Amino acid sequence: MSAPMLAVEKLCAWYSAAQILFDISFTVGRGEVVALMGRNGAGKTTTMRSLMGLMDRRSGSVVFRGRDISRLPPFRIARLGLGWVPEDRRIFTELSVMDNLDIGRQPPRRWDGENEDGTAAPVWTPERLFGLFPNLGEMRDRAGGSMSGGEQQMLTVARTLMGNPLLVLLDEPSEGVAPLIVEQMANTIIELKKQGLSILLSEQNLHFAELVSDRVYLLEKGHIAWQGGMKELVGNEEVQRTFLTM
Ligand code: ATP
Repeated sequence: MSAPMLAVEKLCAWYSAAQILFDISFTVGRGEVVALMGRNGAGKTTTMRSLMGLMDRRSGSVVFRGRDISRLPPFRIARLGLGWVPEDRRIFTELSVMDNLDIGRQPPRRWDGENEDGTAAPVWTPERLFGLFPNLGEMRDRAGGSMSGGEQQMLTVARTLMGNPLLVLLDEPSEGVAPLIVEQMANTIIELKKQGLSILLSEQNLHFAELVSDRVYLLEKGHIAWQGGMKELVGNEEVQRTFLTM
């Protein structure tokens, strides 16, 4: 098997003196959609923040495309092709859809790291993104702040894609948005996978995760409590009850 795109080993993280993550280890392969699941407060967001270099105190190793990124600042990590869609969206409310997209722009990329094949990675333009998110195309001059929560969620995903990432961290994309948007979000993830991108998805909703994910890691209180194939989880009600049901 080829080396994973992302290999996390014994990741620990703290907020001040409180340890939140305990020896988290997982991998994401090229073109793979991996779900990080668990109840509120299990540590999904903290894991993503750790990968992006945003936790002041952490230990363990994070290897992305063959490079140890665990000591790099967030902007260097982003430049290596790790994209992050935060849970709280963070669009620029005063700026138009087009201007929000422009802010995310980064140069085209190649798979040119260690053990990679040198081919060109997908390049995103606003026009291409409007193909993926038609409603954004119809409101390109609208201010971000006047859009619905679901539309803002799409704009956040689109802005991250403007950075031409190779692996996208998606933090709870289905949370608090209308069913139609949830469906579009699932279709988007499936399309990104088709394009060869990798996705790490944080999710509580099994139905949504099932639509898009290949493998799953279940987090509980900052530990990985279970891991396996998505189909395996769907068929295992006991594991679902223990780690997912509210
Ligand atoms: P959610 O779905 O609620 O976002 P999560 O699985 O993403 O849940 P985290 O947000 O990573 O969980 O939170 C993990 C733990 O860290 C929780 O106990 C939470 O209270 C704590 N925590 C989160 N942010 C902070 C912070 N800024 N300071 C202190 N503790 C925090």
